[in-house]
Amino acid sequence: MPEIARNMKELQEGRKDFSFESRELLERAGYTLGYDRPLIVRCFDSRLDPIFAAFLMENGWSHQDVISVPGGARALGSSDSADKATRQTIFEAIKTGIAVHEAKWILLTIHVDCRSYGITFPSDEAEKEKQKQDLAEAVRFVSASLSPEFFVEGRFVDGRGIHPV
Ligand SMILES: [Zn+2]
Repeated sequence: MPEIARNMKELQEGRKDFSFESRELLERAGYTLGYDRPLIVRCFDSRLDPIFAAFLMENGWSHQDVISVPGGARALGSSDSADKATRQTIFEAIKTGIAVHEAKWILLTIHVDCRSYGITFPSDEAEKEKQKQDLAEAVRFVSASLSPEFFVEGRFVDGRGIHPV
């Protein structure tokens, strides 16, 4: 077995079930622990790296699947025609994650102070409100486009962590 394949196998066998706040969400939604790692849509902003790394470590995952694009899930929640191509690209990548890694848990994220919005919000509250709306819309779009076996969750990222909304 090539070394990379052996490493992948070891990673897979060493993977733990998650034990954290989403477990409750998953169970409430009737899902099982087979949904043991997220397919994450996140912004490419490297300031987020330590936050996502801590999220992985805290939850005992050895790996995650990541779709990293400017704005993260923002375009998925946008009805602006300028976002149509990005929306389609992200959704195609999600479908690839499902096809090649059997992803079941799709975690859509948007973060505070994201320059991809290209606007200055009048207040932190206004920014968060807009981003929550976009996340909700992104979850609606992706959920409606996939069969019900997939768990699609939206989360807001700030300097303290990755929060359910
Ligand atoms: Zn960003």
